This record gives sequence, C-alpha cells and structure tokens, in this order.
Amino acid sequence: MPRKFDLIIAGAGVGGVHLADFLKKRGFSGSIALLEKRAVPFVKPCAGVITLKTLHLSGTNFEPFIQQKMDRLHCAYEYQNEEDLTLASPFIFRLNRAQWLGSLLSSSMRGGVEFFENIQVVNYEEHADSVLVPTDQGVLESRFLVVATGSLDMNGQKRGRGFARGLQAYLSHPDPSLLEYHRSKMGYDFGLIPFGYGWIFSDDGHLLIGIFSRLMREQSLKRALYKYINQKPTLKGYSRLWGVETHPMFLPSQEVLQGVLRGSHRILYIGEAARLVDPFTGEGIYYAIKSANLAAEVLLSEKEDTVGWLYKDKVVREIIPDLAAAWELSEEFYAYPQYYYRKLLERKQIFGELLAGEMRYKEFLAQLKKGKPLERYARE
Ligand SMILES: Cc1cc2nc3c(=O)[nH]c(=O)nc-3n(C[C@H](O)[C@H](O)[C@H](O)COP(=O)(O)OP(=O)(O)OC[C@H]3O[C@@H](n4cnc5c(N)ncnc54)[C@H](O)[C@@H]3O)c2cc1C
Repeated sequence: MPRKFDLIIAGAGVGGVHLADFLKKRGFSGSIALLEKRAVPFVKPCAGVITLKTLHLSGTNFEPFIQQKMDRLHCAYEYQNEEDLTLASPFIFRLNRAQWLGSLLSSSMRGGVEFFENIQVVNYEEHADSVLVPTDQGVLESRFLVVATGSLDMNGQKRGRGFARGLQAYLSHPDPSLLEYHRSKMGYDFGLIPFGYGWIFSDDGHLLIGIFSRLMREQSLKRALYKYINQKPTLKGYSRLWGVETHPMFLPSQEVLQGVLRGSHRILYIGEAARLVDPFTGEGIYYAIKSANLAAEVLLSEKEDTVGWLYKDKVVREIIPDLAAAWELSEEFYAYPQYYYRKLLERKQIFGELLAGEMRYKEFLAQLKKGKPLERYARE
C-alpha cells in the first residue's frame, strides 16, 4: 500500500517551499509531503533579485534575507546612451535566496510538513479520489498534487517549446571604484542580446553579471556574456569569471497566455512548471510565490471537487493578464530595441515604476508608444 498524504508538493524550490510553509501557517490541517530530487542545500542559477511588488505578497517576510536594496537604475544601449536614475525609494532587492529558502523549509517542517530530499517524482496518475505519485523510491498517494518542479520536466528534460535562457557569472575582486559605481544600482544593457538584455550589479564584493534571452542557445549565450564583459567600457580588462551557469526558463506559451493551463481538479501546476515567468524581464520568483498563494487559497477552501478548476480560474484572472501584456511588450520592445530604448529614456521614471511593480505592463506599453511613431522614426 502506498503511503498516503493529503497533499504532495513535487519540488522544493521557491514555489514549493513557500506553498508548504504558507499552508501550515494558514492552518491547513492535512498531511503534506514536500519532495525534492536534490539534496539540500543546493544552488540554483538565479540572481535572487526581487521587485517591490514581491515584498507585498502575503505570507512573505524577506526582510532578514535582503542583502541589498537598490534605488538606482542604470540603462545603456550598445554601451552608449547611458542614463542613470535615482528613485525615491528602493525598487529592487537582492535576496539571499538559499538562506531564505532554508529558513522557510525549517519553518514548514516545524509546522508539520514532511520533507523528503533526494526523491524524484517521475510521473503521476490521477484517479477519481486520489493521485498516485510514482517516485524513484516507490509510489506515494495523495488527495492533491502540486507540481512545482520548475523549468525541467519530471525526468529532468526540457519539454515543450518557448524556453528563454538565463546565464549569470561572478566577476571576482573588481576594482573598489567599480564596486562603488555599481553599489545599490541595477544596471540594464539593451541592444546587445537578441530578444533580451544584460544585467549587472554589485554583490558582496563581486559583480554579478548576467544575460537573459528569449532567443539564444546555451553556447551563443556564453559567447555573448564574454563579449558583453570585454566590450562594456567599465569592465574592460576583467576576465576573472566564476560560477558561469546557464539555465532555461520556461516562458508562457500562447496557450497559457490564452488561459489554457496544465493541471486538473486534483493536480495544480505552480511557478515555472506552469510557465509563469515574465517574458520581458525573466522575473520568476514573484510568479512562483503568487501562484503558490492562489493554490493555497483553494486548497484551504476545502472545495474538494473543484480545487484545480478554481485555481486555474484565479491564475487566469490574477496572473495571466500581466504576463500577456509583458509578452506584448517583449515582442515590440525586443523587435525594435533602439526605437523603444529611446522612448524609454524619454520616460525612464516609468521604467523604474514598472520594475517596482507600481505600473502595469499595459500602461507602460501605452506610455512608451506615445510620441513619435515607429514608422516616422524609421524614415529619419
Ligand atoms: C540565470 C537566472 C537568473 C534568474 N534570476 C532571477 C531573478 O533575479 N529574479 C527572479 O524573480 N527570477 C529569476 N530567475 C527565474 C527564477 O529563478 C525562477 O523563475 C524561479 O526559481 C521559479 O521557481 P519555481 O518554484 O517554479 O521553480 P524552482 O525554484 O526552479 O524549483 C523547482 C524545484 O523542483 C525540483 N525538482 C525538479 N524536478 C523534480 C522532480 N521530478 N521531483 C522532485 N523535485 C524536482 C528542482 O530540483 C527544484 O528544486 C532567474 C533564472 C535564471 C535561469
């Protein structure tokens, strides 16, 4: 007889651990098994940058884990047209992701969550009143399954189409003046990476440098990173990189943007497994937590027969419109980056507001489109 739980969560990343802890703190009385294929602690390539709107998500307390608050924005296009902007208050925060997740995991276990590491969920089989969950160490059974396995499928393969990639690396021991220059400042470089951007900020005595692209493959992304470092005027002469890690990100597909989500009434997909990643910036932490919160609301509602459907409905109403607008923006912006970069400089304050989550994508795009139209710009 397989061991039975009320809820199995597959994947102890951002969404999975937050959900387990959040449910217990909100009084979920059933048994929860949290299954992770790796041994903890582990490192996932992620810049750990969270936006202001993430701090406001319910069930979160990031304050003890914030390493840096950034209130300065730096933008450049092909290393030129550089602009700096200081915002009224911090809008982007650098999180010690590993410590935050470790603390949440301990808290969830104190709350009664059973955590199993080194267990890989390999499949699931849905029945009328339960879900069978085969793992590489035997079969488990549950009333509900939450799939929080991130961008790879259960067998560690990339599935489907529509991946973006993120690549990041540390530049060790840069000149103190360079560190000072990047202190409390989030740097964005546009126009160098097709359908993406480069980012840079200082982190505990190093510079963290990365690339996000909707288009590039792993090898060309690595070449692009070295080119970025070699050509960026402030970084010239530096090549001591470590921790060069590439990782796929599972962007929303057209089906997802039209509200067709994976899952059923007993199986809920959250975070990147549900393809809830911002296609313009690559931000995924916010959406992993937000979707976990929506899943928690329905799991706590005890409406056994409709849990999965209620969850999808909430995602369609509360998450998809933003991602659809972000997709529209990324299609426009990255297709004509020079034009939109100019527009961005005309209204760079609103870029800060967008990143902080104070402005929605729809409004941002409408603002960017104001003024000289693309056709006139192209003729000149
Ligand atoms: C280079 C890079 C930089 C990034 N920087 C940022 C950033 O600064 N800010 C931001 O908001 N987002 C960033 N992201 C995106 C962000 O990391 C992800 O969107 C976010 O972690 C998704 O959370 P998740 O819970 O869905 O998945 P994950 O955090 O990836 O967690 C999935 C977990 O499931 C486990 N797992 C997978 N398969 C199985 C299985 N079969 N059985 C059991 N366990 C399994 C995995 O080991 C993992 O622990 C970045 C991504 C990349 C690649």
